[in-house]
Amino acid sequence: MKYRLDSGRLEERFAEWKPAYTKAEAIAEANRCLYCSDAPCITACPTHIDIPTFIKKIASENVAGSARTILSANVLGYSCARVCPVEVLCVGKCVYNQWGRAPIQIGKLQRFAVETAWNEGARGLFPKPLPATGKKVALVGAGPASVAAAAQLALAGHKAVVYEKGALPGGLNTLGIAPYKMQASDALDEIEWVADLELVEFRCGVEVVERVSGDGQVAASSLLEEYDAVFLAIGIGGDAMLGASAGAGPAERVVGATEWIERIKGDAAYRLPSNVERAVVIGGGNTALDAAHELRVLGVPEVYLVYRRSETEMSGYAHELSAARKDGVKLVENRAPLSYAVENGELRGLNVAHASAGRPVEGTAELFPADFIVVAIGQDRARHTQLARLFPGVELDAKGRVVVDPATHRTGNRKVWSGGDCVNGGKEVVNAVEHAKIAVRDICNTLNGAHHG
Ligand SMILES: Cc1cc2nc3c(=O)[nH]c(=O)nc-3n(C[C@H](O)[C@H](O)[C@H](O)COP(=O)(O)OP(=O)(O)OC[C@H]3O[C@@H](n4cnc5c(N)ncnc54)[C@H](O)[C@@H]3O)c2cc1C
Ligand code: SF4
Repeated sequence: MKYRLDSGRLEERFAEWKPAYTKAEAIAEANRCLYCSDAPCITACPTHIDIPTFIKKIASENVAGSARTILSANVLGYSCARVCPVEVLCVGKCVYNQWGRAPIQIGKLQRFAVETAWNEGARGLFPKPLPATGKKVALVGAGPASVAAAAQLALAGHKAVVYEKGALPGGLNTLGIAPYKMQASDALDEIEWVADLELVEFRCGVEVVERVSGDGQVAASSLLEEYDAVFLAIGIGGDAMLGASAGAGPAERVVGATEWIERIKGDAAYRLPSNVERAVVIGGGNTALDAAHELRVLGVPEVYLVYRRSETEMSGYAHELSAARKDGVKLVENRAPLSYAVENGELRGLNVAHASAGRPVEGTAELFPADFIVVAIGQDRARHTQLARLFPGVELDAKGRVVVDPATHRTGNRKVWSGGDCVNGGKEVVNAVEHAKIAVRDICNTLNGAHHG
């Protein structure tokens, strides 16, 4: 199976911010590793990759062995190497940091190992699949949680059928990651490894719904009837926008962040509207930081991040803010968005107020001029909440997250497991992979009769 994207996508204009190591660079970096016996980097990795072992294998030029060590703990070890916020995970915990010396570049070494083994056509990077059991599992959504779960189910001998409403697999790992970290085509190349496993089947363009009313749909109830287990990994839904009191701006100039990023990554026909000179991104999380940084790299002269609280309260990573600033993004703290300023159908900017503790202060409203606005204030969970409810017994918490037993990732429905963003409310790819590992272990125990459902 080959997933293809049209060329001419805006993301192709981005250069990589962490270019791949050459062999000599990788070996030199691997030789700096102290191979700590109680390595803190392993604990800091949500999938607990045996980092010192894979690094040692790079140093001894056993690259395929190194890739096997990585993939045995994390089947999406290639994507994770490129997209993990290593500064706050493995690399952030490297002992070199304590001595004021440069930490080992674990992500870059991980990429080197998997990419080199893959490019050299190394075989058997995944363990040999167990014989088919005849059991089958439906996976809802083809984001990293399901892709990782499908690979592990297939290796355990269970048929894994992944239903994805979009045209491409990979979820936000394909269509959300900032292009200077990884482009959609690389995410899709990795998925092909999984799609090539005999017991994995992707059914893209098929939405799981309550009642089928046309082509490209399958009913949630039929999945419960036809499969031995269901893995729910539907992510956290589309962009939340400002409320009705904000009015409406011209659609091509007021956009939701994830929808916009998806277009620059996946839609070869998409271009920014003409003459965008001054853009505003509303929000203080990582998606807002990504969108602002991407606008600058695309050549928008002035890009402002408008956040209703202070810099120290931002949920976005400090290292991402600092990288965005280096590329010219400006942060405007303590400004609450009020409404879009539109005159004769043309966007003039964003009406904002000074904010205290995130709330607008009366009498301080002013116009913040802008000709393009990206809204990055979180996700609208209504649709995905509705979907989760189609599986009787599946519960949601007050924040709309699917409730699971953390030890097994099983939901209140004995046949349904869940993982990824829909469970943790939106974290990282590596967390989705770890959820998949926990859930698959329990699904396998259940299907193999180790414990009763
Ligand atoms: C802009 C952005 C940038 C990010 N950057 C990073 C990063 O640099 N590093 C990092 O580690 N993480 C990053 N993340 C987070 C990461 O992408 C997510 O944590 C990860 O993709 C979650 O995986 P998932 O499988 O749970 O959900 P998703 O990736 O959201 O996938 C869910 C899938 O389910 C499908 N679906 C939903 N409903 C249905 C239905 N009814 N029927 C069929 N299919 C359905 C969706 O179409 C989607 O493909 C970023 C997220 C965003 C929004
Ligand atoms: S998966 Fe991510 S956190 Fe874990 S070792 Fe690799 S880069 Fe670090």
